[in-house]
Amino acid sequence: MGLADLHIHTIYSYDGTASVPAVLIRAKLIGLDVIAITDHDEIAGSLKALELASKYGVEIIPGIEITTAEGDLLALNITQKVGRDLSLVETVLRVGEAGGFCIAPHPMTNGFGMKSLGAYPILKALRNPDVARVLIAIETYNATAIDRMSNHYAHILADRLNITQTASSDAHVVEAVGLGATEFDGHTARDLIDALHKGNVNIRKQKEWNSVRILGSWAANYIGSAFTRLANPAL
Ligand SMILES: [Zn+2]
Repeated sequence: MGLADLHIHTIYSYDGTASVPAVLIRAKLIGLDVIAITDHDEIAGSLKALELASKYGVEIIPGIEITTAEGDLLALNITQKVGRDLSLVETVLRVGEAGGFCIAPHPMTNGFGMKSLGAYPILKALRNPDVARVLIAIETYNATAIDRMSNHYAHILADRLNITQTASSDAHVVEAVGLGATEFDGHTARDLIDALHKGNVNIRKQKEWNSVRILGSWAANYIGSAFTRLANPAL
C-alpha cells in the first residue's frame, strides 16, 4: 500500500514556514510515496517540488489551494494557476479544463485563516455532472483543523454523497507533514489518482502508521547509504 499527503504548505504560501527541500526530505523520511504541495493561490512551490522530487525519491502531484468565492478548494494535477475569488463551480470547471481534479479540503471549518466550503455549496455544485467529474473527493481528516468536530461533519457529508474521502496534514510546519495521510493500492502518483477516482483509498492518521513506517523507511535509507559507502569508500 502507498501513502500520500495531498495538502501541504511551504514558504511559497503566505502562511507556510517549510522550504520545499525540507518537505521532500521529511516526506521521504516518514515513508510517504506521493505528496502534493498546495500553497494558497500559488503554484511556484509545487512546481519547484516537481522539479526536485526525483532526487528525493518522493513523487509529486502538482497542486494549489485556490481561494474560491465560497471557500478553499484543492486543485491537483495542474501546473498552472487558476484565478482566485471565482465561484466554486467556475473554479472546478477551469481546473478540469486544465486537466486537473479537485478535493474539498476541511469543509465546514472556519477560523485561523481557514475559509472553508460549506456543505450546501458542495452539494449544490455536485449536482452539475461536469463538476462531479472533477470534484472527486472530500478531505474528511485534516490534521490541522482546530475544530475537531469539523472532520466528523465532513465524514458525515462525504458518506451521504458517497464520495471519496481523503486525509491530509494541511501542514504549515515541516514537522506536521504526514500527520494525516491517504492510503492507496500501489505506490505511484498514477496509482493514487486511479484509486481516488475509484474511491479505493483509506484515511489514515499518523499515529496509526508512523512508527513501523518510519522505521522501515529509515532502515531502507540506512542500508542504501551503507551500500553507497561500501561502493565508494572515499565518501
Ligand atoms: Zn491548506
